Amino acid sequence: MKLKDPGLLREAAFVAGAWRPVRNDGATVSNPANGERVGEQPMLALAEVEQAIESAHAAFGAWREHTGKERAAVLRRWADLVMANADDLAWIMTAEQGKPLAEARGEIAYAASFLEWFGEEAKRGYGHTIPEPRRGQRIKVIKEPLGVCAAITPWNFPSAMVTRKVAPAIAAGCTVLLKPAPQTPFSALALCVLAERAGLPQGVLSVLTGEARMIGEAFCESHLIRKISFTGSTAVGKSLMANAAGTLKKLSLELGGNAPFIVFDDADVEAAVAGAKASKFRNAGQTCVCVNRFFVQRGIHDAFVARLKAAVADLRVGDGYAEGTTIGPLVNHAAVEKVERLVMQAIDAGATADLVVRAPAGGSFYAPTVLTGVQPSMQISREEIFGPVAAITRFDTEDEVIRLANATRYGLAAYVYTQNMRRGHRIERELEYGIIGVNEGLISTEVAPFGGVKESGFGKEGSFYGLDEYLDSKYICHGGVA
Ligand code: ADP
Repeated sequence: MKLKDPGLLREAAFVAGAWRPVRNDGATVSNPANGERVGEQPMLALAEVEQAIESAHAAFGAWREHTGKERAAVLRRWADLVMANADDLAWIMTAEQGKPLAEARGEIAYAASFLEWFGEEAKRGYGHTIPEPRRGQRIKVIKEPLGVCAAITPWNFPSAMVTRKVAPAIAAGCTVLLKPAPQTPFSALALCVLAERAGLPQGVLSVLTGEARMIGEAFCESHLIRKISFTGSTAVGKSLMANAAGTLKKLSLELGGNAPFIVFDDADVEAAVAGAKASKFRNAGQTCVCVNRFFVQRGIHDAFVARLKAAVADLRVGDGYAEGTTIGPLVNHAAVEKVERLVMQAIDAGATADLVVRAPAGGSFYAPTVLTGVQPSMQISREEIFGPVAAITRFDTEDEVIRLANATRYGLAAYVYTQNMRRGHRIERELEYGIIGVNEGLISTEVAPFGGVKESGFGKEGSFYGLDEYLDSKYICHGGVA
């Protein structure tokens, strides 16, 4: 590992303010580009998870008493440390996740932006005063931190998904138990090293590695934990919701998507192709807001497909550390097999595949593919692809495409390309999605609320809405005020 600061790669969990190294319980993390060992993470025992929960509970009393300004100062220092160590953090991310180094650097800046933004918001947990209905009363509503919160994060954005949850919780005055994805624990642990250096008090953050189901159940069953924020598959989100019912926890669930990308005849085709490329192929197609279904109107279909193929031909698949790589490996071989299955099923059902780029042998690579003649009934239109495959369906009318776009149980992101703004305004209301890009393919930012509807989950991340997810309002009524 070429790290300037080797101390950032910690083969240890962070439990109750102390580093807990691997003993004889290490689980290996490997690089998806070549299978090489990155390091080992401890598989914590239930008793250690419970100890972390208790320490988060014990730390809450003092952390909530810090002023917003004091919490902001810690988050600011943390953000600065993340940026100062961006090269090392990106290197660790590429090793365990596979994404190209330039993309990993971009994610580190995005991760730091949540620390900065929510640090600033820490000072603004405003409440209300309400005019009293009876004489002699005074009514106020204050915002208070929820208490101990748990965060469960996925492997596709190993750093940004961590700070998107942990920063608002800490800014609000909550304490946090983080369970990172088993494929990418070292990015989360490196962030934790920097949190400690930034002066985050003991017990405010624990990072727990180990068996997902056991840790998830411990979170759900604990009476001390008030909220779980989860990003991952819809199936796991549903099981967490069922298990959290026993203690009536608050939940934020950011689950799967099936994003439509609609291109009307009147679209600016170059802008549509640029947006399509950015949204579809970022992170090798492994984001929950990646386009899953392209709907292209008949009149522009062939021009759009030709230009998209030309744009895809510029992509370079390979090791994330290699100069010029724009598409890294998929997270593992099972992911490759899943994408292969969806593409083969589509071809069997009549779709046409164009492979315009080669993928190297070995590693879990998948060659970017443009698939035309895709029908809404095909499995590839119904399931999240999570790979670099553009599945394109032709349509004729606006009504038809709205119906097709909404014909899914998911509702996270949707994209529309049209130069007719009346149509743009009309369709943004019709689409049953939590995030809409109109003539825009990159919609993620710390300043706006990210979150879905339907089976894509609920709860918002980022922006002032994101802070509110970690605050409760308390109504106080004073009587007998002369
Ligand atoms: P993906 O298919 O993208 O890996 P998962 O939903 O399986 O999505 O994983 C997202 C996160 O949820 C990871 O941190 C994973 O370890 C965790 N996870 C998986 N199964 C469970 C479970 N039963 N309870 C709690 N967390 C889980």
